[in-house]
Amino acid sequence: MYGALQEELKGRLAATHEAGTYKTELVMTTPQGAHVQVDGRELLNMCANNYLGLASHPAIVEAAHEALDRWGYGMASVRFICGTQALHRELEERLSSFLGTDDTILFSSCFDANGGLFEALLGEEDAVISDQLNHASIIDGIRLCKARRLRYANGDMDELEARLEEAANARYRLIATDGVFSMDGYLAQLDAICDLAERHDALVMVDDSHAVGVVGPGGRGTPEHHGVVERVDILTGTLGKAIGGASGGYVSARSEIVELLRQRARPYLFSNSVPPAVAAASLRALDLIETSHELRDHLRENTARFRAGMTEHGFDILPGDHPIVPVMVGDEVHAAELSAKLVGLGVYAVSFSFPVVPRGTARIRTQMSAAHSPEDIDFAVESFAAAREAVAAA
Ligand code: PLP
Repeated sequence: MYGALQEELKGRLAATHEAGTYKTELVMTTPQGAHVQVDGRELLNMCANNYLGLASHPAIVEAAHEALDRWGYGMASVRFICGTQALHRELEERLSSFLGTDDTILFSSCFDANGGLFEALLGEEDAVISDQLNHASIIDGIRLCKARRLRYANGDMDELEARLEEAANARYRLIATDGVFSMDGYLAQLDAICDLAERHDALVMVDDSHAVGVVGPGGRGTPEHHGVVERVDILTGTLGKAIGGASGGYVSARSEIVELLRQRARPYLFSNSVPPAVAAASLRALDLIETSHELRDHLRENTARFRAGMTEHGFDILPGDHPIVPVMVGDEVHAAELSAKLVGLGVYAVSFSFPVVPRGTARIRTQMSAAHSPEDIDFAVESFAAAREAVAAA
């Protein structure tokens, strides 16, 4: 029976190779960091979500070690059976006070947080109005709920307003947006979105996975950056990027929303608790984020240095200030070649192509980290220039 499917799958895989969209995984033999080893070679890592360099930070590793001894390894339970330790509640309360929300509920990932949110809250009388470039987890979460789905072009406030009007007869309308669009590094216009939401009596949901710890004067994300903390109804986010980089996600929102999610969100009810070592290390990460500007300042300096260097060398980078700096290539095969040349030169930078980004818009998505030194950034820029030359000559 498998034979026919096997042949078909082989064909599909071959087509993926041919299109230049086949994704290979380099295997690292070191902890995550600015410098990693792959096949015995050191590479400068320019593609981790390790914005603040906390993924292997000594204080974070120490917090995780201490938690293993104090709280054990795993929970062997979902939260409502016997999977809630004081540590989980402490992290939820800490996230609420940091983000300026009423309450927070942890999930195994932000993918799960977004996957469980919409279905639990909304029904077929409702409407979700979603930015076209929202993360896959928001798209999938919306698909799982029965509410009417409407989309607007990325950042297009006129179209958002038109969609709000189109859904005027819905019981509730929820605007869903990424705080930072992960393929482009663009920030959502949350001030304009909140204005529209108020004018049309809609709710606002923001996935701030790429912003918390990074964006805003206190690292509290895009609502802080835009001065709209009290106007956002629902925030989702990850512990897998700036906040230590392990795994775990959350919904931080109005209290009844969080209370209902504890009763109804399926990934919360049917999936294991965040491991205690991750919860404790996330708390330590929040300590570092709250008590010091140093890491964020360093990250901003690195971002500005890289953006300036790449612009000087004539690369087509998407504008902005975010540490996601996409180097646009266009053609999928060409992007994969450029990435391979970079790896050859000692720079780990991956090409993103369909289905992660639309066809014909392949890019090398670089991400800055506070763990990079200025010399690292300069080396990355020089390597990009050398790799471009090598690809052109080939
Ligand atoms: N939301 C956004 C905007 C993301 O970029 C990501 C990660 O890629 C996620 C959600 C998923 O986060 P997690 O790794 O915690 O599932």
